[in-house]
Amino acid sequence: MNMLRIAKTVFLLIACYFGMVVQSVAHEAGDAVKPACGDRPFLVLKALPSEASSYRSRAGELVRAGIPERFGHEEWAAVVLTNEVHQHVGIYTILGAKMGVRAREILEAPTRAVNVIVETGSLPPMSCAIDGLQVSLGSTLAQDLIHVRSVAHPQVAGVFEYKGHRVRLSLKPEFQKQVDDTISATVKECGDLTPAYFERVEVASYRVWAEFDRSAIFVEEELKP
Ligand SMILES: [Zn+2]
Repeated sequence: MNMLRIAKTVFLLIACYFGMVVQSVAHEAGDAVKPACGDRPFLVLKALPSEASSYRSRAGELVRAGIPERFGHEEWAAVVLTNEVHQHVGIYTILGAKMGVRAREILEAPTRAVNVIVETGSLPPMSCAIDGLQVSLGSTLAQDLIHVRSVAHPQVAGVFEYKGHRVRLSLKPEFQKQVDDTISATVKECGDLTPAYFERVEVASYRVWAEFDRSAIFVEEELKP
């Protein structure tokens, strides 16, 4: 019986060792593999950390809850980097990042290649979505790939074009209503743009990050080229 247990342990140790070798070879090989059109190429970092302990508490909770796997590492990277660029965690920035990832997915486009006309207007908080779009698409103001159209009724929407293929995405009214209700309840309880307001909005933002599925929250319309 003891011999059997020892044999099992030795077998497991050998299996673990070979598993680790295979994983590390795959990782090194992955460095040289050109990313597919859906993947964000990393230029300075090799990848974002995958362990919860590398993230601040609320983001760490999302890692432990499996959100990077649920929505994919592309969206995870887009939302993380958007929040770092934008320097506060907000609902609209996250929605912009999700929308940009969805647009690239539909258009099968690489980064830095999609032309965007945004319909959020240029007033925060809704215009914060623009930063999410820039980060997720790599279509930046500096590269003349993103343009903010002046519209009578700003909405979380945009027209995305790649190789003559055009699609318009807009946040579905029921999801916009959830966002509006959250923001007006927060203003009522905390005052507008107070520290308490930003704290409450941040909590709601993590909920949007964890719960809003980019393939379900947008109306997706194919447009004629
Ligand atoms: Zn903002």
